[in-house]
Amino acid sequence: ATPTALMVGTGRSAKLGILIKNGEVLEATHTIKTVVMDKTGTVTVGKPQVTDIVSTGKFEEAEILSIASGLEGASEHPLALAVLNEAKAKSVVPLQAENFEAISGKGVQAVIDGKQAFIGNDKLADDFNMTTDLKNKMTKLQAQAKTVVLVGYDGQIIALIGIQDAPKPTSKAAIKAMQKAGFRTVMLTGDNKLVATAIAEEIGIDEVIADVMPGDKAQHIKELEEKAPVAFVGDGINDAPALSTATVGIAMGSGSDIAIESGDIVLVKNDLMDVVTALVMARKTYSRIL
Ligand code: ADP
Ligand code: MG
Repeated sequence: ATPTALMVGTGRSAKLGILIKNGEVLEATHTIKTVVMDKTGTVTVGKPQVTDIVSTGKFEEAEILSIASGLEGASEHPLALAVLNEAKAKSVVPLQAENFEAISGKGVQAVIDGKQAFIGNDKLADDFNMTTDLKNKMTKLQAQAKTVVLVGYDGQIIALIGIQDAPKPTSKAAIKAMQKAGFRTVMLTGDNKLVATAIAEEIGIDEVIADVMPGDKAQHIKELEEKAPVAFVGDGINDAPALSTATVGIAMGSGSDIAIESGDIVLVKNDLMDVVTALVMARKTYSRIL
């Protein structure tokens, strides 16, 4: 590769808001066959909103929200913000939480009013016997592409909360463009399989790898790399190891500092369409100089 051709490639892309860290990145980029994407904040807008609160009977919606928002007050997860915003919108005051503990990939727990409480997915609620009725309600929400968190209080599951995070307006077109350009598209997420599949189907992603624990994302990238070079697109703290492991790591500019540092390419406009632009540009640059 001649340095001038690389400079042209990276210079033009920078104007489009596609920041490529160095020439070697461009060289690696033209080999990519598979594009793997994180869900929240990458494929979706990353601003989840509460859409459903389903009580299991004992507690009213405002009580559920006061417990749920009390639990989420100290969490930095995007789902926590959704719950806090909902409480605010309904003028519900969060209850005081003590002994707060975040459990990576699962949720949070704390003590509220002297009682053990939690909010999170069914991995966190494993010890509770969920009734068939509750499981069905959960599945129904998940099939509508809603992430479901369970709220536990004093040894019981008191509610399900459905939370929706819509795909970015350009995600569907970007996936189509990736496929047209010959790339295989994969979604890699910590969220539930049903939810992930519903979103993937909505925008046309070929394959879904779901229920992945934060520490396991990089391992999945390694396995995919055995078949063909992979670009991983992500934004979260969780995504940093996968961004470093992939042949090319592509970070959203709106992402966490550590994701941006781990990425080889940074997308200033946070637009999946720019993934295609970067990949196709790398190919063109190399076909010109090889
Ligand atoms: P991702 O970033 O791919 O959405 P995470 O690993 O951050 O996945 O979270 C996986 C799952 O863990 C979430 O979908 C949710 O069910 C649960 N979870 C994690 N943190 C929280 C939280 N603060 N409140 C509620 N649920 C949570
Ligand atoms: Mg994310």
